[in-house]
Amino acid sequence: MKSKNFKEIIAFFLILNLIILFIGCNSEHSVKKLTRDELVQQSDTILNEQESSFYSEEQSQKSSAPIEEQAQELSVYIEKQDNKLIGSAFLLNTHCEIILYDENDKNLIYDTFDICRDYENRLSCKISSSEISQLNHRTINQVSDSTAKLLQEALTYSALSDGALDISIGAVTNLWDFTSDSKIVPSQENIQKALKSVNYQNIQLINNRVIISNAETQIDLGAIAKGYIADQMKAYLVEQGVNSAIINLGGNVLCIGTKADNAGFTIGIQKPFEEGHIAGVHLDDFYQSVVTSGIYERFFEKDGIFYHHILDPETGMPINNNLASVTIISEESTTGDALSTACFVLGINKGIELINSLDNVHAIFLDQDGNLYFSENISEELKIDV
Ligand code: ADP
Ligand code: MG
Repeated sequence: MKSKNFKEIIAFFLILNLIILFIGCNSEHSVKKLTRDELVQQSDTILNEQESSFYSEEQSQKSSAPIEEQAQELSVYIEKQDNKLIGSAFLLNTHCEIILYDENDKNLIYDTFDICRDYENRLSCKISSSEISQLNHRTINQVSDSTAKLLQEALTYSALSDGALDISIGAVTNLWDFTSDSKIVPSQENIQKALKSVNYQNIQLINNRVIISNAETQIDLGAIAKGYIADQMKAYLVEQGVNSAIINLGGNVLCIGTKADNAGFTIGIQKPFEEGHIAGVHLDDFYQSVVTSGIYERFFEKDGIFYHHILDPETGMPINNNLASVTIISEESTTGDALSTACFVLGINKGIELINSLDNVHAIFLDQDGNLYFSENISEELKIDV
């Protein structure tokens, strides 16, 4: 009898709890309880149950995205683990995470993910209302200051890598689909046609005005935008007084300061296609960004042939040079993202040559046979575990 009463009381509180969670909201973030499985499904990531709470933050009204895009919700999962506050969200088509080591304020995580989403809405060529899509449709030719700054930087890296990184590659990347299960290999005819529009020199920037000289040229900032967005997220957190944090945008890792015990962060370089790390990079208070471009990030296999998402701007096909990944360690993540893609396309020799010609940047190349190659002087500035 006693245990029945007890069960009834527990059931009552559980239902009450669910109702409170369902209708609960705070002044800044309207929240609605969703099932945890929905986020796991989206992000393909198993999240720790410990001390966890799950919220769905509805898209804020400030975005100028059209109705169908505004209807999307940003799901943010937050958990407290020891002294860390860990936020996860599916953004930029990948699993993103923010770990705060010296803060307890969940709003910092919500606001930083909001910044991430705002930049994605502005920069993604897959979102029809973005500035990049509007440039590609030739419906605008003026862009915001931040987009102009990123375009300028992207053009600089395109030139620096002699077009190995080429942000005018959009007509070619549009032919490929590495995110769904469609597994379509574009026809050579379509690839050859699209390649005619690829040349970063077709894009010119005069202040905030973008001049695209070839009518077919399409911009794709996919190789650099994640790094840039990580830098903006970091700038916001630093401005808010955060001293110790990690921003991880699907493997693009950017740190703030050191851990609570003043030890620098150690970031693992993933083994391709399997669990575990091939090397660990110890960061200090200057080198805070670790970005990897790899064949295992987005790919499909068709008729026994492996196709991955880093394309050769000369052929329009996945670059085939026996590399598995390139990791760039730098101060800023924009640099790391641009150079990791550029070096992947350049290959080991030319890639290492490029990195050696630059200050304050290091690289680790991994080939498909498991061999590691390092840029010059890396061990003088960084401790690497292999
Ligand atoms: P990830 O997006 O996995 O971090 P990268 O930073 O290497 O990987 O960027 C790959 C993306 O960049 C592709 O999905 C595509 O949109 C675009 N891209 C592919 N090849 C090139 C290239 N040679 N130059 C510029 N952009 C590229
Ligand atoms: Mg990149």
